[in-house]
Amino acid sequence: MEQVDAIVIGAGVVGLAIAARLSRHLSNVLVIDKNASFGEETSSRNSEVIHAGIYYPKNSLKAEFCVAGKQALYEYCQQRHIPHNNIGKLIVAQNADEEAYLQTTIEKAAANGVDDLSWVCAKDLRTMEPNLSASAALLSPSTGIVDVHSYMQSLLAEIEQNNGQFVARTEMERVECSDGDFVATLNCEGEELKLSSKYVINSAGLYCEQVAKRIDGLSEQFIPTLYWCRGHYFTYTGKSPFQQLIYPVPEANGVGLGIHGTLDLGGQLKFGPDTQYIDSLEYAVSPELRGKFVQAIKRYFPDIDAEKLQPAYSGIRPKLQAPGAPAEDFCVQGAAVHGVQGLVNLYGIESPGLTSSLAIAQRVAQQLGVESSE
Ligand SMILES: Cc1cc2nc3c(=O)[nH]c(=O)nc-3n(C[C@H](O)[C@H](O)[C@H](O)COP(=O)(O)OP(=O)(O)OC[C@H]3O[C@@H](n4cnc5c(N)ncnc54)[C@H](O)[C@@H]3O)c2cc1C
Repeated sequence: MEQVDAIVIGAGVVGLAIAARLSRHLSNVLVIDKNASFGEETSSRNSEVIHAGIYYPKNSLKAEFCVAGKQALYEYCQQRHIPHNNIGKLIVAQNADEEAYLQTTIEKAAANGVDDLSWVCAKDLRTMEPNLSASAALLSPSTGIVDVHSYMQSLLAEIEQNNGQFVARTEMERVECSDGDFVATLNCEGEELKLSSKYVINSAGLYCEQVAKRIDGLSEQFIPTLYWCRGHYFTYTGKSPFQQLIYPVPEANGVGLGIHGTLDLGGQLKFGPDTQYIDSLEYAVSPELRGKFVQAIKRYFPDIDAEKLQPAYSGIRPKLQAPGAPAEDFCVQGAAVHGVQGLVNLYGIESPGLTSSLAIAQRVAQQLGVESSE
């Protein structure tokens, strides 16, 4: 039987970041994906925003990984010439209640180590963003955007430089434990392949719960229930009326950040994502959502031309938060919790998973004992 040091299940941005990190220490790291290429699911269906780390509860993994990951991602992009832009974002208030929310946000962000937010009054906003309507805003200068595909390509290059390998069209079917090692059964386009590995990392995104259930020896009590929550995007054709990213105050239920306006590196403005819990994997964007989008966007962009909004794409969040329940943190679960040495399962890696990817990778390497956690 062929032997590798580590198998990473899932070649999204997080799985690739983990494989790249492990490949710095292990000579034979394999990352597999059931699809024809890497990053075809949530990693290529998001806003491509490098988040600052503003909203997440103090001491949560989301706060810790987002702030550390943001710094690491900017450095990685610079070192490897990955297209990105530290463009900045405005969180806009419409009334006194929302201004009060922004005030508390300054403190919340500072508790996470994000102490660069500044208050922008209505007069300065008119100069900064003449098409924006708001009573006040917070400017987050460390928020940015990144070309996720280039970032994933760069991670893959690092894996291959370190003797690791990515194999597409290969689905993890079962993992068994045998004499301290794992034996993984893979389905490579209908052909069964068995591999032995010292480490297994389940970074299967929307399928992490399903994959975990195929790992023999992992007790069901440690496998959380996952919920899928779709977010739709509409592009705004023509020249963008905004210079930076525009966010309303987030949804009170903690499910999403509210329908916001983001720019990509080509200057294309898009609005979204909204939130809709779903039962089956379906990415279509119904044009009927336009009315709901116009209503939400009108609050901060009253001159919106509804005809310019075109259904674009959707992405699905792998959430640990059930509909109607409070927000949940990321879950990076190692042997200290589930007792299976050499195994790490990642659950609920929704936003800010892209921003957090390098920090998550470091934590996984530490949990496996491949790196020290100084
Ligand atoms: C609408 C939306 C907007 C977002 N915006 C942002 C943002 O602006 N900034 C930010 O930081 N984050 C954002 N995120 C979050 C970010 O996109 C995700 O956290 C990140 O892409 C997750 O990457 P991943 O590698 O964990 O998962 P994925 O990209 O889903 O990759 C998992 C991979 O596992 C593979 N797989 C599954 N099962 C198997 C199996 N049995 N065998 C082999 N392969 C398997 C899948 O094919 C898939 O490619 C957003 C998410 C959504 C949904």
